[in-house]
Amino acid sequence: MGACALRIRGGSIGTKATSLGTDRSGHGCLAHALPVGMSNPHQGSRTRGLVDDIVEVAEISAPTFSEEARLAWVESRLAGLPGSRRRDTVGNLIWSFGNGRPEILLTAHLDTVFGEDVPLTVTRADSRLRGPGVGDNAAAIATVIGVVEDLAAGGEADGIAVAFTVGEEGLGNLRGAHAACDALKPMAMIALEGHGLDEVFVDAIGSVRARVVVRGPGGHSWVDRDLPSAVHAMLVLGSELIAGPTPLAPVNVGVVSGGRSVNALADEAWLLVERRSVDEEPLATFVEQLGGLAVESPLTVSVEDLVRRPCGRLPRDAALLQTVREVRRELGLPDVLVPASTDANAALARGIPALALGVARGSGMHTVAEQIELDSLELGRRQLELVLRRSLG
Ligand SMILES: [Zn+2]
Repeated sequence: MGACALRIRGGSIGTKATSLGTDRSGHGCLAHALPVGMSNPHQGSRTRGLVDDIVEVAEISAPTFSEEARLAWVESRLAGLPGSRRRDTVGNLIWSFGNGRPEILLTAHLDTVFGEDVPLTVTRADSRLRGPGVGDNAAAIATVIGVVEDLAAGGEADGIAVAFTVGEEGLGNLRGAHAACDALKPMAMIALEGHGLDEVFVDAIGSVRARVVVRGPGGHSWVDRDLPSAVHAMLVLGSELIAGPTPLAPVNVGVVSGGRSVNALADEAWLLVERRSVDEEPLATFVEQLGGLAVESPLTVSVEDLVRRPCGRLPRDAALLQTVREVRRELGLPDVLVPASTDANAALARGIPALALGVARGSGMHTVAEQIELDSLELGRRQLELVLRRSLG
């Protein structure tokens, strides 16, 4: 398939990688061949095209806490494949091979940051797929399915468990990943993300997230001018909260809301605030600060929906990291280690060796202008396949 020659940035890979242009030709050649949604005439019968899977997943709405439609898609995609499948207590779909503790747990989160009202049409322009969630996390979901399907077909998937997780984004608080780690107790974990092929996410950025609510009597802005306003008090609390961040432990007030009218004293106001860090101390300090927030009577303040996303660091001599770095050297991928906030946080917080890997290069994550580079997908697929083969011995 000369016309579909694989372009690899920064290195070369062996002849097996040219499967992009053979049995899975739909993965690499579609960039200049067919409109999205059309089947590729070169596509093998054993597996479906990776790109087709990405498009189908990305076009299914899956806001955090509403992942059911995507779960149903994955279940039907996996129907008839080897391995066992089950839903767990929080709604993850677990696809596993072999008995006992998994040697390696792979996670791909199902949810997105986009509400039901956001159109999810995927388009292809030049060598890119464009659309909300096309990388984060449709590309990861499709890649993990394709790679594990290939390994299973060769009888090489024993020891693998895949968790298609719920609740990774926003206020989902990693509930899917926490439940999967508790139930499966894996020996190691890799969280798959759509973006970030040029980096390895080795440390877990933890966070504290909370809704701070101020309530009061409200009133007329002139008649009741001696009374306090919930909005005014909330602005003061917000400025206190953003006064003390450090470069590696930033504070963000992401949403503010409250009040009824320009000529009414607000009876309620609230804000959503977050602090992030890879170290525990700034997070613990922030929890203390939230607990100490005070307003003058008759106003009241309460901290609601307080959630903690755990932080953690992967030891640099972990076998999993050694394997990943070795594979990346061979594939010509950069040896860049960075922190991130992913499903891997849940494992690192439990002392389970874990990291996150991207499956593609792209941009615009968490925006409607998100896109991924089609040519990068084969490298992402190959990286995961090699890491799994070597991790499983
Ligand atoms: Zn995301």
